[in-house]
This record gives sequence, structure tokens and C-alpha cells, in this order.
Amino acid sequence: MNLTENIYKLKGKIMHYAWGGDAFIPEFLGIDNPEHQPFAEYWMGAHPLASSELYTIEGQVSLYKLIKEDPSLMISESVFTRFGELPYLLKVQDVKDILSIQVHPSKTEAEKGFDREEAAGIPIDAPYRNYKDRNHKPEMLVALSDFWLLHGFRQKAAIEKVLEETPEFTILAPLFKREGLQSLFQFVMEMEQPEVNAILINLVKREIRKKNDGELTKEMPGWWVAKLFEGKDEIGNIDRAVFSIYLFNIVNLDPGQGLFQGAGIPHAYMQGQCVELMANSDNVLRAGLTPKHIDVPELIKHTHFESIVPAVMTGEDVLPGEKIYSCPVPDFGIAKIDLTAELGYSNTAVSLEIMVVTSGGALVNNRLVLKRGEAFAVLPGAGYTIQASGTCTLFKAFVPVV
Ligand SMILES: [Zn+2]
Repeated sequence: MNLTENIYKLKGKIMHYAWGGDAFIPEFLGIDNPEHQPFAEYWMGAHPLASSELYTIEGQVSLYKLIKEDPSLMISESVFTRFGELPYLLKVQDVKDILSIQVHPSKTEAEKGFDREEAAGIPIDAPYRNYKDRNHKPEMLVALSDFWLLHGFRQKAAIEKVLEETPEFTILAPLFKREGLQSLFQFVMEMEQPEVNAILINLVKREIRKKNDGELTKEMPGWWVAKLFEGKDEIGNIDRAVFSIYLFNIVNLDPGQGLFQGAGIPHAYMQGQCVELMANSDNVLRAGLTPKHIDVPELIKHTHFESIVPAVMTGEDVLPGEKIYSCPVPDFGIAKIDLTAELGYSNTAVSLEIMVVTSGGALVNNRLVLKRGEAFAVLPGAGYTIQASGTCTLFKAFVPVV
């Protein structure tokens, strides 16, 4: 089809995963949710199964299709040569319940893993399949609200302390001191379920009681452990991920703070709203809090067993009003643009750029009017200006130039 403009309003896709909240995304998009369905994610990109649509003079057209038809116009020759597709997916997320604890493989590991499973004849949709594609899945998140997540292993001394001070964990302390993090993690991941239940039952009961009595805060693992059992009549089988909640850093981000989840770093989003930018991939190795397949040897192989201090970012100023959060991957970059009636923004798109307004309203090229929750796409090479009537915040996803 003939595209007459180089900037289009974009309509994303809503994902109703069970862990999502029922209010934030409907309010963000200005739609009703009378049945209180969970609205977990709003996807802006060209995922083949859930592509966004551009509003053209011929109606709504799939971005995926437009890229297929004319990749050099839509994503530029250089991005097409390097990635063969739009390499990023931009999301708005509303996390009500803790997501699965997960690790993503590196690009090389994903390629090897995918080829291995293909060669073994494992169907792509088999529940025990680990690698759905040959891509890595780095994720960058920037908080829109007070946001909580698990991210990487805590410092050795902190883990030692929790193992010694928690009566149920004292039997694990010698193993950790003798053999380290990997042995400890592997031991709890391979433990039989009845044993997991036996070790954790009193701890879980105690944390539930302490949370009810107001003795816990969100900085404490127990708060999140107790939350897992809220609304349940009985404790039942206890997810072994409960161990992990005590071993990982609990990170609290303020609005505007970002954190990058690189290959091998175990993580789980726990609560809050964020913008997330990720590579197009479904390669997730899970470590609990999920009914899905857990492949312990594969998970162990790809997990970085080292203590880390979460590298929380606040963004670096690049232009007046614009901050870039540095993502150490070639696939994508993300910027936050804060405008006022006095401070506008103008730039030239370095790639296909997708922008979403997260607060206020904006006028693009004196033509497109956008309010909170609305998004637009700018074709590579197109110049654009953004004006705000009051304060306005946008997030911009792009492919960095090499
Ligand atoms: Zn992840």
C-alpha cells in the first residue's frame, strides 16, 4: 500500500495475563473494564502474533505487514540487514501479582539451544520446549509508579545472615558456606516437593501472621512470601521459589528509575506499573512461581551465580527534556521525554521510533493530537516536532545507530 505520511498514530494490543491489574491499563487507554478482566500488558511493536496497527488513510494496517512489504522504508535497510525485523517490543505493564522468577539466555546460547531443540525434533509449541526462537531477551524497564522487583542474587554476607537467622534455613547454611551460591540454588531447585513443603510450612505460616500483624514491609522477603498466599483457603504445595525470594535483591524503583535485565540475571517483577522495552523473543527459563515447565539443568547452566548490586538508572540528559537510559544491547534504546508548554522537542528519527504518551497531551508536527495512553510511530529519517500544552511525558523506543 502507499503510505502518504511518515508519522502515524499507532494502536497497540492488550494482553490479559492473569497477573495483571484490572484498573491501570483500562484507565491509561481510556476504556471500560466492567467485568474486571486483568489487563497485564499493552504491546506496541510488530510482533507477528500481536502486531500494532497504524492508522492510515486506508484504515488500520498491521505494522508487521507494512514492514514485510517494504522493510527499507519502514525500518531502514541497515536495521533490516542487521535484525531482519523490528528488533524491539515496547510495552506498558501493570503488575498486580508476582510474575514467574526467570532467567533469559544470551544470544549465542539462544541460538545453540534453539538449534539443539530443533535437531531433537521437539515441537515448537511443546510445553517442555525451552527455546522458542534464536534470539536473546534483554529487558529494560522504567517505572511509571512505585515499582518492586527481584533482581539478581544478594551479597554473600546478606545471604549468610538470612540463612543463619531464619530457623527453617539453618540446615542450608553449611552447604552455602562450603559450596557457594550455585550449589545452594541447585539444591533447593531439585528438592522433592514434600521436602519443600516440610521445610517451608512454618516459615510461610509465620510470615503470613507477621504480615497480618503489620510487622513486615515490602523491603522484607516475608511480605512478598505472605502475599503469595493471600486469598487462599489453604497453603497447599509451596512453590520452591519461596527460597529465592530470600536470596535475591528486592529492588524498589521510583517513577522514572530504570533497571536492565541482562542475560543470566534472575529476576521477577512483583508489583507496580512500568514501561518495558525488550527484544522480540519468547526465550524464558523459569525458576518458579509458574505452572509452566521448569528445566533445572538448563536454568542452572544459564544463571549467573554471582552477587550483584542492582544498577538502578535515572537516565542521562541528551537533549533538553530528554533522558536516555543506556541499554547495553544493539537491539534497542529507550528515552524519556518530559515537556512543558515552554519546552518542546524536535528531532529526526534514527530508526522506526515508537513513542507513547504516559502523561499529559502532545501535538506532533502540528497535525497529530495525542493524549495519555496514545502512541505514534515515526518512520526512519523523518523529522518531527512535539509540543505540549502543559506538562507531558513520553517514552521513545528506537534502534541505536551503529
Ligand atoms: Zn524477564
